[in-house]
Amino acid sequence: MTTWTPATCLRPGTLPREPSAESSRPASAPHSRPKDKSRPVVFCRTCRHTITLPEHRTTASGSFRHTFFNPHGVLFEIGCFSAADGCRLYGTETTEFTWFAGFAWQVALCARCAIHLGWRFRSADATFFALILDRLQEGPADTAE
Ligand SMILES: [Zn+2]
Repeated sequence: MTTWTPATCLRPGTLPREPSAESSRPASAPHSRPKDKSRPVVFCRTCRHTITLPEHRTTASGSFRHTFFNPHGVLFEIGCFSAADGCRLYGTETTEFTWFAGFAWQVALCARCAIHLGWRFRSADATFFALILDRLQEGPADTAE
């Protein structure tokens, strides 16, 4: 039997200390090289256009990943990103059928091939992109365009 309880494990002070990614990074990290071709990027699975970066992953309602049905019963598995420069917004912003209370949404397309990649959600004080994960791929920058 385990003595694990959510209450004790959710308290940060009681968690075992894990080696942090920060401390294992080489000292030269602050000088990030924009031309680094091995830097991971998130790109359009259809045309390989760079859409966003893994470090733009963010959470909405406490989670990065969400699954939703649209009004037509189609299931989407989406991930939240704070920015997606490779997207182009399309159509009119609306709060109809919104998945996140208080947020208006607008369709986000791949800026190159115009495939539907997800939605941009915006409230009075926050903006994020909810992107359809199986339409994206993550890999080194030199595999994207
Ligand atoms: Zn594309």
